[in-house]
Amino acid sequence: MDPARVRENLAVVRDRIARAQASAGLSQPVTIVAVTKTHPVAAVDAAVAAGLVVCGENRVTELEEKRAERPDLPIEWHLIGHLQRNKIRRALPLFELLHSLDSERLADELSAEAVRAGRTVRVLVQANVSGEETKGGFQGSGVLDQIARVHELPGLRVEGLMTMAPFTSDEAILRGTFSALRLLRDRCRAEVSGFTGSELSMGMSNDYEIAVSEGATMVRLGTALFGEREQ
Ligand SMILES: *Cc1c(COP(=O)(O)O)cnc(C)c1O
Repeated sequence: MDPARVRENLAVVRDRIARAQASAGLSQPVTIVAVTKTHPVAAVDAAVAAGLVVCGENRVTELEEKRAERPDLPIEWHLIGHLQRNKIRRALPLFELLHSLDSERLADELSAEAVRAGRTVRVLVQANVSGEETKGGFQGSGVLDQIARVHELPGLRVEGLMTMAPFTSDEAILRGTFSALRLLRDRCRAEVSGFTGSELSMGMSNDYEIAVSEGATMVRLGTALFGEREQ
């Protein structure tokens, strides 16, 4: 992991984000989540050296290892992958934000554990707006009611929504997915009493510019910063 390369990659990413915003007439702050999964902890060091402050992992065990290896770095850790319900208790002290609250059952159990621990857990609700069967997340005609119920649960603070776009290079499909998430967030804010969450975690290395131009406030980037993963 070459820190100079990561710094260069980040400069390119920032420039592309700025251009995507400019051409869409947007100026929302965009948080770059440096996705360090499968990379050695040197990737975390390189991210911090380049000025990034948020890192994302998709597995509890790897998150636990990286945090333990770098206990003192000024990093906010985000869990971005599916959280198994039997790992909730272990995971809770490890992340500052969960991007992937993907079912009501998980929400119920996370809420119960948060209350037990005397904590408020920051979450994003993962929505499957493209309706792909293989993807997790809230979906379908009842999605607004489901999000409203999650929003009411004690111990959770819903800060916004997250989605995974289909694996495609078709710009129209990607744009449609991201704009659907934005519309869902806007409906939550308009129709779910007390819902103030505004974050839109959407966009990965291959589609973040489209996501930003559709209003993303968080982009989750691995390959664009650190190069290809081996696994
Ligand atoms: C791996 C991963 C990413 C980053 O993927 P890249 O294409 O390397 O940017 C983003 N989000 C989630 C949920 C991931 O698992």
